[in-house]
Amino acid sequence: MSADARTDGLLAFLAASPSPYHAVASTAELLDRGGFRRLDERQRWSDVDGGCYVVRDGALVAWRSTGAGPAAPVRLVGAHTDSPNLRLKPRPDTGGHGWRQLAVEVYGGALLNSWLDRDLGLSGRVVLRDGSHRLVLVDEPVARVPQLAIHLDRDVNDRGLQLDKQQHLTPVWGLGTPDDGEAAAWVAERAGVAVSDVAAWTLMFHDLTRPALLGPDRSLLAAGRLDNLVSCWAGLTALLAADPVGHVAAVALFDHEEVGSESTTGASGPLLEAVLERVVEARGGTRADLRQAMAASACASADMAHAVHPNYPERHEPGHRPLPNRGPVLKVNANQRYATSDTTAALFADACTRAGVPLQVFVSRNSMPCGSTIGPLTATRLGIGTVDVGCAQLSMHSARELCGAADPAMLADALAAFLGG
Ligand code: ZN
Repeated sequence: MSADARTDGLLAFLAASPSPYHAVASTAELLDRGGFRRLDERQRWSDVDGGCYVVRDGALVAWRSTGAGPAAPVRLVGAHTDSPNLRLKPRPDTGGHGWRQLAVEVYGGALLNSWLDRDLGLSGRVVLRDGSHRLVLVDEPVARVPQLAIHLDRDVNDRGLQLDKQQHLTPVWGLGTPDDGEAAAWVAERAGVAVSDVAAWTLMFHDLTRPALLGPDRSLLAAGRLDNLVSCWAGLTALLAADPVGHVAAVALFDHEEVGSESTTGASGPLLEAVLERVVEARGGTRADLRQAMAASACASADMAHAVHPNYPERHEPGHRPLPNRGPVLKVNANQRYATSDTTAALFADACTRAGVPLQVFVSRNSMPCGSTIGPLTATRLGIGTVDVGCAQLSMHSARELCGAADPAMLADALAAFLGG
């Protein structure tokens, strides 16, 4: 596939995936097209060969293997489907002073200012009283969080913007008197169901600006949710290209990374371990086979990395300043905020060499607290040697982020070599 076709595929994936549920649906669609079979966690698995995947809410695990034995090692890519955003509260109808508004919760570590003055769409899912789900995607302007005019906030540019999460982030969606039940009725209509059937929802706002290539040479990529849909897309692309011999190639896309990963679908939950265990069992293996497999396995935890910011270069470690379009970034932290070890770093460097892709290294300043990701969690939970990697970006956790247009494909190539073993 040409570089342009791959970039178009990524842009379409980003636009189609404003919620974790949509990211999983976009992924499942590409896996279906690639000949993967969907397995149901609630049923018995007898055939786990070829390409298979399971979906649990906003998380997905897919794998591919041919003729692998029960103790076959796994090459794994991990990433996460969720991004910081504003989520609709259960009873959202609110407002006053002649305005109708929607009450929201802040999900994850959002850069709050980036949500101001954007035309917002809504996506997620509703759950009906019979337990079934409906995906909801409203890709048109529904609401907006209006910033206070400078005339009413004269020193904002000197003092810095201060936003109270409860008071200042409530989107407006019309004029008039708030009407309890109006939002639920509207959501039900957009989901194509009766409002009396709606039991609950997980719905979130997204910026409607389409993903775009930026710059006269179109070398940069601007979009929401680059963290971490770029890694989901790269892992998926790598798995679709992988042809593992004697081992299992797998991708695990978790939810809830932005809020600590502790959930049934987060990286600290049991999902991945349960799937790996069942794959071994379906091949007639034992617990000892599982342990043997894990001891020989390796995981690349893919999450976005910080590129050096030209306006704030002092925030970076002088010897480790990743740039966009210079290849994937290896993330290292002696205090184990990243799971990369000397051994797993060597594995990934070798994969990059085989893929013909350059590699950069990120280490944070000693005076700057280091972020973290799912790598240490999967490593701690499963005992699988893990390397933390990702594409360099600016504006992490903004409603609209920026990375290099060439990096996602380079990451996909490196991950394909890694999955190939
Ligand atoms: Zn992330």
